[in-house]
Amino acid sequence: MVKQRVVIIGLFVVPLLVAALWARLFLGVGAPEGWRSDGHVLRIVLPDGTRAIDLPRIEGPADASRPLVVIDAGHGGHDPGASGAGTLREKQLTLALALALRDALLADGRVRVALTRERDRFLALEERSGIARRLHADLFISIHADSASAADAGGATVYTLSDRGSDALSDALARRENRADSVNGVALAGRSDAVSSILVDLSRREMRSRSIRLAELILREGGAGGEGGGALHFHRDPRREAAFVVLKSLDLPSVLVEAGYVSNAGDVRSMTDKAWRARFATTLAHAIEIFLAEPDTGLPAG
Ligand SMILES: [Zn+2]
Repeated sequence: MVKQRVVIIGLFVVPLLVAALWARLFLGVGAPEGWRSDGHVLRIVLPDGTRAIDLPRIEGPADASRPLVVIDAGHGGHDPGASGAGTLREKQLTLALALALRDALLADGRVRVALTRERDRFLALEERSGIARRLHADLFISIHADSASAADAGGATVYTLSDRGSDALSDALARRENRADSVNGVALAGRSDAVSSILVDLSRREMRSRSIRLAELILREGGAGGEGGGALHFHRDPRREAAFVVLKSLDLPSVLVEAGYVSNAGDVRSMTDKAWRARFATTLAHAIEIFLAEPDTGLPAG
């Protein structure tokens, strides 16, 4: 019996294996395009920062050597962001705040400004950072408003990018903000990971420290010791890091500012008040101008 089995293997199975191996090696049979033994390769084309959306207009001095600030009003269109009392939506506040910041920067006349959106429209997160990249911006600032179940949570928070959030609260916020980036149920968020890993180099670290510097300046200028005399009311833990997709894959200094809480009545009074928004904007503009006037950023003196 054993001998018969050996003969069968020798006569039929071994030649078959050899033939199959030969076919695989020399004819490419069994290895169709896009398939590898280590798993499937699935390519899905999704809108990203390279999609040919129209670039926004650049406002301010005609001098192209002036630094360019891209202001990103969070959410928009079918993505309302956080909800406040009544019909108040985060996307309305972020746009009003972004427009106020643009006006403040243009009034000072020292930098050029572009907005990722000037009206209520949807943009994927990577389209927002893509605009900044394509315009070769010098600075990217994304404006949002937070919400929390705790009614006493209030004040502004300034975020810079981290690979991981600095705490569970930051993680939860980043998840909420990043959720805007799913299209037809397909998450775009993970796509930037490959880009991110490429960008883990010296220049990335440099941009990270520059971003942290900008965050510190915003806290300084908005705080009691700043020129605005405490124009901004900050959260008790105002300087944080989180894994915001909109800040990923950016090779320029970038921060995300949560101006306040839509769940906090006092913050809503502030953010819906035009005079407060102007103070918020002046403070941020001042921090941005100081930042851009520091060495290596090329803002002309005066
Ligand atoms: Zn938001």
